[in-house]
Amino acid sequence: MSRDNFTKPTIKKLAERAHYICSNPECKKMTVGPHADPNKSTITGIAAHICGAKDGVKSPRYDKDQTSDERKGINNGIWLCHDCSDMVDKDEKCYPATLLRQWKKTHEEFIKTLQTKGFASTLELLKPTTIEIDLSKQLINFFDDRRVLYDLFEQEIPLHGLRSVLAIRTELTNIKKQLGQATSLYIKVDQMLAACRKFHSELNDIDLDHLRYNNSDPDWIKFVTTLSELRKVFGIHILELSNKYKIQIGTDLQQILPTIT
Ligand SMILES: [Zn+2]
Repeated sequence: MSRDNFTKPTIKKLAERAHYICSNPECKKMTVGPHADPNKSTITGIAAHICGAKDGVKSPRYDKDQTSDERKGINNGIWLCHDCSDMVDKDEKCYPATLLRQWKKTHEEFIKTLQTKGFASTLELLKPTTIEIDLSKQLINFFDDRRVLYDLFEQEIPLHGLRSVLAIRTELTNIKKQLGQATSLYIKVDQMLAACRKFHSELNDIDLDHLRYNNSDPDWIKFVTTLSELRKVFGIHILELSNKYKIQIGTDLQQILPTIT
């Protein structure tokens, strides 16, 4: 079976769209420069396949459902330096297709911004950024609007709370798909997902439809305790992300952050 290689025009377009800069947000190495021969240039980047070019062991992220045209189409390519291309192919679990697509999207947006900015802004933008920062911001913005995480327990309608935790689960799952397994955000997202699962299983046998604020109802007490545990786990991770990436947290959400003594 032959490899579905990119055509020369596809390779050139991929390189140009990336400005010949490696699309790994933590790398951004320049991949073109002068050759000793004044008539030549040296290209050290590569048009890498997001989903492998050929069925077989040495074709990471191979997708059998792709057609040959899709496999060699520009949408299946990403511009990387040689080191990064090697790295993503040696560990496909750590670098799934979803992550590479996210790199490409972010990188092309970054290049587009560079095109419109002056020198000073360009230098600022060239500082290493990671996909983790963007996704952490997205996550905290999302949490800022989730009242189940911070509203007074007395105001909680358990069924609404349950639905809101379901929505949080969906968002966390989406974010998880875009991350490599070795990243610290992936581990945090995984732990928050586990907290959501625990929340659901603990409340499984309670009739949430009719449960309302009542401090002498054991079911209500269980609901409050379970929700407190969920908030505690989220509070720890939100505080760490906010400190690490200097992300602002809304005043409501700040209530669940652990207090540092
Ligand atoms: Zn690179």
